[in-house]
Amino acid sequence: MSKSLQAIRGMNDILPEQTPVWRYFEGTVSRLLDNYGYKQIRMPIVEFTELFKRSIGEVTDIVEKEMYTFEDRNGDSLTLRPEGTAACVRAVLEHGITGGGQVQKLWYIGPMFRHERPQKGRYRQFHQIGLEVFNLDGPDIDAELIVLTWRLWGELGIRDAVKLELNSLGTSESRGRYREALVEYLSAHHDKLDEDSQRRLKTNPLRVLDTKNADTQAVLVDAPKMADYLDDESRAHFEGLKARLDAVGIPYVLNPKLVRGLDYYSKTVFEWVTDKLGAQGTVCAGGRYDGLVEQMGGKPTPGVGFAMGIERLVLLLETLEQIPEEISRQVDVYLCAFGEEAELAGLALAERVRDQLPNLRLQVNAGAGSFKSQFKKADKSGALYALILGDDEMAQQVVGFKPLRGQGEQQSIAWDALAAHLATCVVQG
Ligand code: ATP
Ligand code: MG
Repeated sequence: MSKSLQAIRGMNDILPEQTPVWRYFEGTVSRLLDNYGYKQIRMPIVEFTELFKRSIGEVTDIVEKEMYTFEDRNGDSLTLRPEGTAACVRAVLEHGITGGGQVQKLWYIGPMFRHERPQKGRYRQFHQIGLEVFNLDGPDIDAELIVLTWRLWGELGIRDAVKLELNSLGTSESRGRYREALVEYLSAHHDKLDEDSQRRLKTNPLRVLDTKNADTQAVLVDAPKMADYLDDESRAHFEGLKARLDAVGIPYVLNPKLVRGLDYYSKTVFEWVTDKLGAQGTVCAGGRYDGLVEQMGGKPTPGVGFAMGIERLVLLLETLEQIPEEISRQVDVYLCAFGEEAELAGLALAERVRDQLPNLRLQVNAGAGSFKSQFKKADKSGALYALILGDDEMAQQVVGFKPLRGQGEQQSIAWDALAAHLATCVVQG
């Protein structure tokens, strides 16, 4: 195929054989979020570039090198969203729905775009489900976000494969004091730092903490620890969060080097990580961002949220073989009809059955065909039963009811009794 007719590198089609797992995952999450009282919000995929620069921070990987930015026909600089929080904050401010301390518990789902090096679990168009909560400043809501993901992992059967890492970044004041101490320490070891870290030391020193460079990591062993600089309020908040996780019995590890790639976090930060997917191990990440709304021009408004990567979670479900068998079966019953008259009767019969069993997955053969070829299609569809309408059945006003997965003999069912019969033998979703 010529190059222009291929998808863009790192942007994937999700093929029909994959969509059942996606829909299972998305359905499980959205039901759970309904139950915890979260409401869905839908934002545009494109925003003014300025929005992301101001919220994510100029000196972050995302803004420095990962954004898809382009000029609109009228000269505006626009960007395909690299994440959801910025747009969500923009939307709540624009519509005034967090004004006067109104609590909002929101979630969104959709594609995000980052120009990264594509590899397993890392793509240029990927999908996130994100949550954002506004105007609740206590550790109880931080805990709720973690508790509901814990429940989700349980429902999906992947709890044993993920681990919770936690840290507190403190308020911007205590983080400022820590940053000074860190800069002083790292400056004294400047020559031993890798080039990227030397640069970050000037622009965004906390990011040096999550370097992958071994020499820099060695220098960091004796660096000042964030925990020693936490203010009392942040410390109490963090203790409150841990107490709640303990109360529910959710295990966690404290990771003092967890700083997250976005600038706007304060106090709680967390990541759910797995060792089952290789290097791309973070499946869900988030934290508190009490200063962000104000930084974006709103009144001071506490906020906390997270985003999970759908591709990575789908991969994890596949890797751990935690995909319920019934979700990939898309047909319950397949109707075969032979001859024009039988086709017409079959179509009408199928519609009557659908009236009575709206959740039945009933497929009517299209494209006619011999007995053999229709049967082959019925079998290949994955259906549990075939319905057969030939000359004999037409004469007697019955259908042949044939189990395709080896449970019993073919029987004849009167047209009027078909829906009732199907209701007894097919479990409907
Ligand atoms: P990473 O450290 O893996 O680059 P991140 O810190 O950049 O992740 P966030 O911005 O916090 O990621 O996004 C939340 C989640 O979205 C990640 O934990 C991950 O599951 C998913 N995610 C982020 N970038 C990608 C990507 N390029 N491809 C697939 N999933 C991604
Ligand atoms: Mg990243």
